[in-house]
Amino acid sequence: MKTMGCFWAVGFAGIIAFIAPAVGTAQGTLAKLRTVPFTDVKIADAFWSPRQETNRIASIPVNLENLEKAGNLENFRLAAKGAREGYQGPVFMDSDAYKALEAASYSLATHPDPALEKQLDEIIATLAAAQQPDGYLNTYFIVKEPSKRWTNLRDWHELYCAGHLFEAAVAHFQATGKRNFLNVAVKLADNIDSVFGLPPKRMGYSGHPEIELALIKLWRVTGERRYFELARFFVENRGRKFFAGEHNTPLDRYDGSYWQDDVPIYEHRNIKGHAVRAAYLMSGTTDVVAETGDERLLAMLNRVWRNTTERNMYVTGGIGPSAHNEGFTVDYDLPNATAYQETCATVALAQWGHRLALLHGDAKYADVVERALYNGVLAGVSQDGTKFFYVNPLDSAGRHHRQPWFGCACCPPNVARTLASLGGYAYAVSDDALWVNLYIQGSVKATIAGVPVELNVTTEYPWDGKVVLEPIVKQATSFELRLRSPAWCEAPSLSVNGRKISPLKTEQGYLVLKDKWKTGDKVELTLPMPIQRVAANPNVKANHGLLAIQRGPLVYCLEQCDQSEPVTAMFVPAGAELKPEKEKSLLGGVVTIKGMAEIAADHNWRRTLYQPANVSRRVPFKAIPYYAWDNREAGVMKVWLPTAPLVPRVGGLEAEAKVTMSFANDNCQPYGVNDGIEPKSSGEQPAANCHWWPHKGTEEWVQYTWSKPMTVSGVKVYWFDDTGRGQCRVPVSWQIQFLDGQSWKPVAAKGNYAAAKDKWCEVEFEPVQTAALRLVARLQDGWSAGVHEWKVIETDD
Ligand SMILES: [Zn+2]
Repeated sequence: MKTMGCFWAVGFAGIIAFIAPAVGTAQGTLAKLRTVPFTDVKIADAFWSPRQETNRIASIPVNLENLEKAGNLENFRLAAKGAREGYQGPVFMDSDAYKALEAASYSLATHPDPALEKQLDEIIATLAAAQQPDGYLNTYFIVKEPSKRWTNLRDWHELYCAGHLFEAAVAHFQATGKRNFLNVAVKLADNIDSVFGLPPKRMGYSGHPEIELALIKLWRVTGERRYFELARFFVENRGRKFFAGEHNTPLDRYDGSYWQDDVPIYEHRNIKGHAVRAAYLMSGTTDVVAETGDERLLAMLNRVWRNTTERNMYVTGGIGPSAHNEGFTVDYDLPNATAYQETCATVALAQWGHRLALLHGDAKYADVVERALYNGVLAGVSQDGTKFFYVNPLDSAGRHHRQPWFGCACCPPNVARTLASLGGYAYAVSDDALWVNLYIQGSVKATIAGVPVELNVTTEYPWDGKVVLEPIVKQATSFELRLRSPAWCEAPSLSVNGRKISPLKTEQGYLVLKDKWKTGDKVELTLPMPIQRVAANPNVKANHGLLAIQRGPLVYCLEQCDQSEPVTAMFVPAGAELKPEKEKSLLGGVVTIKGMAEIAADHNWRRTLYQPANVSRRVPFKAIPYYAWDNREAGVMKVWLPTAPLVPRVGGLEAEAKVTMSFANDNCQPYGVNDGIEPKSSGEQPAANCHWWPHKGTEEWVQYTWSKPMTVSGVKVYWFDDTGRGQCRVPVSWQIQFLDGQSWKPVAAKGNYAAAKDKWCEVEFEPVQTAALRLVARLQDGWSAGVHEWKVIETDD
């Protein structure tokens, strides 16, 4: 990844002159606004301050500890001492370390911490020692595959890792003024710049975008224009189907959409492929457009943003519904229980929205940033800062929990760096205006038309919509205050020094106040926060008949531990009265929402066709903010709530059975086999996955046990098969056995046991009366297997 170097030492003007925006960039000739760096924003509120503190004292140290345990840091040491074996983890391990270093650097910028600074310096010294003489740095290729540098840009994440190094180095330089990390970044960037570009350099771009936006940051902080040109090269050439050639894939069989490489970058009409890659790519493209003013690219960005936020975004501000590609499928496909909504993807969407907000000066982009930050991003970390979500469903059976770390640990440091630099999303400036995008108690310092200006903000946002803003200026100064009027707020109001402003002047979603401001002036913004019932576009099939609850920027959910009755049985009629209630001791202090839900009485439909419809009964319920779920006792969680009794899922005898397996590892959910969720294909990723991986070639079983004997005469099995991404295949053979006394005996099947993909494999047999059945499978040599659903047919004799 690099070569060259040295050049930058020439033109390094003072740190201050080159301080780049710490969050997002986008500020080029085209951008209407410039961000205010988070270092000029003081957050001093009851909502974000404790979270930033937890991030600083818990999450960041936990990140660094886990990077030590998982081998990320050891990989650098191995590379530094020239080792050729011992590398641990997947190919992109370096990137997780860089993101954590970035988070720690942001933290240093606002909270000087000599011990942390020393720890970072030691890690940076190791990175520098690992860096090759030509500037290349990637521990996987230095330690394990030295001959394979740059040979698989599609899959091996070298440029991606480099991008995260650049972001971290820029953050560290801005925080400390020290160049030790930035030197490493510059040498690596120069190496990459010597390899990639227009002929005689080579064509190529990263399978996982990220380096584009990172090079822009590096350009802004060093002033080295080549880095901008390299970012531009990566962006403008994307879609030349480079990966088809790299992997000898015939063009007529090449679908590059996963990598956003199916059409030239100018021609995208919708968001596609892997969600994090897509949103990072669009972020970098936005930065490039801000500088070049390229109208075609700008039109593409606007079009794809609309497609993303109008058809492909969860109400929690996350993107990417599907696990199979960690990304997008088709418009309006927003399932709740199987929502993938990777935490990193929500972070990436916030980054992109922030850049577009700067480019356009339109509040609708900051609205999305707010939605993402207060819901999807914040859910990514536990209240104590030590556990993390990678996948963020909007409906859980109670078995999805935050984890201390992941084999692929991209999300934890991504949340940490976002929280540590949160202030950077809050404000922006233009030539004659200070723009307020997020309402967070504290203060901001900015320079408008050459005049230093401060603004004090007092508010209990997001729990209350009253915001008091007080300018502090040396002498009376004319400028505009532009206050975002959130899309969720129907009736904002404003007063200045007690005088109500009417009519309000609104431009592109901002309330505009032009005045000659002096210290002592007081602006009072009121954003009424009635509880809202939110409906989804009817094209979102997953939400038919469902409504969500939102108050202010926060989306709510029902968690089982707050209810006296099963959440799965409750419905909340559209007209139900809902009331907010402040609960200071709950989950760090939240406003809950209380109301009356209803529960339809249970029916047992086994062998019946008609029954009296029992009257529903009313039960109290309590909703909490979505970001706060899974911090207490495990249980069912739902964001989207039915407004009428749900049609009960019709299950057979399997629904009443207890499930056990011959083997189940950590990420196997045996209950998936009888959860009644029917797949559309064997390759579909189930919300709960019943499989025997990593066992391969063995004989395995899954068992149903009933509390009393049942008479059964057939089964239907839908096999799981993740060809193309995993190691489960349809088994060689299978059979059904029943428990007869103490022994297992095969049933007398009336036909063959077919083992096929993408269909129900059905077998009838002579009826048996038994309290337990086993589905026994012989796995293919070298492959594992799994079962989507296994239904049991009760004899009708
Ligand atoms: Zn992630």
